[in-house]
This record gives sequence, structure tokens and C-alpha cells, in this order.
Amino acid sequence: MKSHKVTVIPGDGIGPEVIGATRKMIDATGVRIEWEEAEAGASVFRKGIASGVPNETIESISRTRCVLKGPLETPVGFGEKSANVTLRKLFETFGNVRPVREFPGVTTPFSGRGLDFVIVRENVEDLYAGIEYMQTPGVAECLKLISRKGCEKVVRLAFELARAEGRSSVHCATKANIMKLTEGFLKRTFEEIAKEYPDIQAHHIIVDNCAHQLAKKPEQFEVIVTTNMNGDILSDLGSGLIGGLGFAPSANLGDGIAIFEAVHGSAPKYAGKNVANPTAVALSGVMMLRYLGELEAASKLENAILFTFEEGKTVPRDVPGVQNPTGTAEFADAVIANLGKVPSKLAARNYKQIKIPSLPRDPVVVVPSNRRTVGCDIFLEAGCSANQLGEFLEKTAPAFGLKLKMISNRGTQVYPSKGANTDAVDHWRCRHLAIETFPDNACLANYLDAIEKAGFRWMHLEKLEEIDGSNGFTKAQGED
Ligand code: NAP
Repeated sequence: MKSHKVTVIPGDGIGPEVIGATRKMIDATGVRIEWEEAEAGASVFRKGIASGVPNETIESISRTRCVLKGPLETPVGFGEKSANVTLRKLFETFGNVRPVREFPGVTTPFSGRGLDFVIVRENVEDLYAGIEYMQTPGVAECLKLISRKGCEKVVRLAFELARAEGRSSVHCATKANIMKLTEGFLKRTFEEIAKEYPDIQAHHIIVDNCAHQLAKKPEQFEVIVTTNMNGDILSDLGSGLIGGLGFAPSANLGDGIAIFEAVHGSAPKYAGKNVANPTAVALSGVMMLRYLGELEAASKLENAILFTFEEGKTVPRDVPGVQNPTGTAEFADAVIANLGKVPSKLAARNYKQIKIPSLPRDPVVVVPSNRRTVGCDIFLEAGCSANQLGEFLEKTAPAFGLKLKMISNRGTQVYPSKGANTDAVDHWRCRHLAIETFPDNACLANYLDAIEKAGFRWMHLEKLEEIDGSNGFTKAQGED
């Protein structure tokens, strides 16, 4: 029988208990796993390792390429980055897969409606790339970076997952109606890639309506693919529909690497009390077995968990209405005793092994036929009025080959005034167009100098690109 190497990180708080229980359940399926125990999280931060992830752990994961991870705490006062996010980003696990399936015997307002969908969330880009700046002392900025490559990988993952799980539809949830370039990139990529999966219905849905539909009629969804922040919010909403965090597993999937973990955190108040629900980690373990190609063992373990809930004799304390809840370890023992039994109401689906998309590791993914710079937005800090700034720039810009088109304040055109009632702050986007060709860098630098000499501080500059005949920038609210 094949043996698999897996790095196991017990983690913090309830982590060692729920991970210990899960290891026991997985080992009882008969699958041979060589567990490499590794450390990350609070204990590591306390040793003074700022990332919370020691080199030995990184080496182990680089070797095994598969991780079962307990929750990691980010103790207040120890570094500013989460060890969880560090692990996901270090190993480029680009897709976060979170199944939401109703549980027998776990009563919620949605029980009996057959909830069974999966959220596939982009896992490394978007606002969660964590690129933030104070633009002025009173205005903060976070960059929302979305790449064609990131979109393609997560969209392909969603369609491959739909195929592996025998699903018939994928919804793409975006805010493309407002953020046409960033959120729109996922929508456009989804519509393009969908053509390669004619066996699966592809629908686009605006993300706020998706949240509304999830609360109203969640059974209509099978697979939802979405950007990082949307996915973070929608998937916690999903966990809430089926009984809470104790039941929510997840997989972080990358190219030849995967990290399996519960959605929940370290629940410190329950640490060491043998009361935590190990189901979320155990179901993450089921996902791991499928990833490793151990489909039979995965279904056996999933069925045993579902059977145990269906029986209702041995259930954790977070199941609503339970009188005598069982402990973490005893629940694991009950599941092990039920290995081989098949629940009558809800059994494991028929899965195939998922084909994880792999794209060339080339940073250039889109090569346009033509592109040109047609202007630039200069972002300025100024405490004056829009008119004072506008009149100055209108007068000064032509000597540098530019003309001022408009000024906006937090996205709304304020100069020339359109009569908007904008409550301005000291952060102005000043849109310039090239009079003929776009000025060279030396000329631009001289223009920025002239602006600063007049008492306006420039903070950044964005070139306005025309790519294959389309504007690579959006208009301000009110801009013609
Ligand atoms: P949490 O640890 O998920 O706990 C929130 C609540 O969820 C608990 O108080 C408990 O609810 C319930 N809960 C969570 N897991 C449970 C389980 N297995 N069994 C039963 N109930 C469970 O969230 P938090 O308190 O916000 O975060 C605590 C620490 O975990 C923080 O340091 C945070 O940074 C970290 N965290 C880590 C991860 C990760 O490693 N992926 C994820 C999230 C948070 P009741 O109080 O209602 O019983």
C-alpha cells in the first residue's frame, strides 16, 4: 500500500486536540501516512521568530507538499502578520475551497433543504495582498491587485472541482458592476474559460445579490467562485447556514501543494478542555485524503462522521439542543467505531480526484497587440479648494506637454465642478492627458517639481494606458 508524507501542524488553543482526534480517525481508515510534526503560530512568535513559521516547518512542507494544519493564533504584540496568511502566501495556495453541506441531526433554520455547495475563493491576491499606505495623515489606501493569471487559476480550479464532484453549475460572484477592471477581470476570465467546460452551466452573479440569495435560497448554488475578500465573507456566511464554525472544513490548494485546515480559529477559551468539535478538521482531513487520491478512505471517513451525527448519540457540544455532549476524543472514538457504516439520509458524494490547474510560471501572461500612454493621474495632497488647485494645474501643465482634464476627490469629479456636493478631503486625483505624445520622465519630474514648489505634495502617479484600443483606466463619477 502506498504511503503518503504529510506535515502536521497541531497549532494553538484547541488545535492539538482537534488535530490529534483527526489524525486518529485518518489512521483508523487504514491509509498509511507518515506524519511529520511541525510547529507554527503562537509558540514560534514567542521564540522571537517574527513570521511565526520557522525554517524547519518551511523545509518540511517543501518536502511533503501536503499539510494538515491546526488553527494558529496571532498573539497581540508579536509581529503584525498572521502565520496562517504567511503559510498560504509562501506556498502560493491560490485557491481556498470551502464546502458547505448540511449535517444530519444539526438543526438550523435551513435544515432539510439540501444545502450542498462549495465556495472557491481566490486566496492570495485582491485587497488581502496587504499593500497599504497612508496617503496623507488623514487618508489611507489599500491596493486591490487582481491578475489575469490569478483569475484564470481560481476559475479553472472551480470548474475542475465542479467536474470532480459531479456538479452541474458554477456561479461567479463579483462586484464587476462597480469595479469594472479588477472585479471585472474575474468576470471576463470566467466567461472566457467557461467555454472550455461546456458540460457545466456558468452564471455570473453580483456578489451582494449572491449574499442575499445565500440567505434566501442557498440550495440553488453548487459552486461559487469569487475574489479573496468576497470569498472570505461569503464562506463565513456559508458556515453559519450549516451550524457554525465547528462544521466548516477548508483546503488551500496550490500547484502541487495543499494545506488543509478548519475555517475556525484556536478558540482559546476551550483549549485543553476536551470540548471542541473536531468535525471541521476531520472533514478537512477527508478533503486531504481525496487530494492524495485515497478516495475510498475519504468516503469511508466522511460516511462514518455523517453516520455518527445521524445516530445522534455521540455529538459535540456545539450541536444545538444537545443535552449530554460528548468530548472531542470520545467523538473521534465514536466515528472510528462507525467506519464502514453508511448513513441513510446523507452519504458522501461520488468524487473523482481533482485536477489542480497549473499555469506556466511566466510573470507575463497578457501580451497586447498595441498599447500607449495617453496621460497620467497625479495624486496630490493639498488643503486648498478644488478650484485653486485646478486653476493652478490648468495654467502650469501645458508647458510640460500635458493638459488637465479633471480633478476628482475620492472618485467624484470636483473640477471642473459638476455641482456635486462632495465633502472633500486633502487627497486629489488630477487627471492629465498628453497634448501630443506623452512627456518623457525628465519632463514629468520637472512638472512634479513645479507642483511641489507651489505647495502641493505629490504622493503617487498612475499612467493612463490604452491597451488594444480600450482605456486601461476607469472614469471618475461624473467625468465625461
Ligand atoms: P475562533 O477561534 O474560531 O472561535 C470563535 C468561536 O467559534 C468560539 O468561541 C466558539 O463559539 C466557536 N468555535 C470555533 N471553533 C470551534 C470548535 N472546533 N468547536 C466548537 N466551537 C468552536 O475565533 P476567534 O476567537 O476570533 O479567534 C481565536 C484565535 O484564532 C485568534 O488568535 C485568531 O487570530 C485565530 N484564528 C486562526 C485561524 C486559522 O488558523 N485559520 C482562523 C480564525 C482565527 P462559542 O463561543 O459560541 O462556543
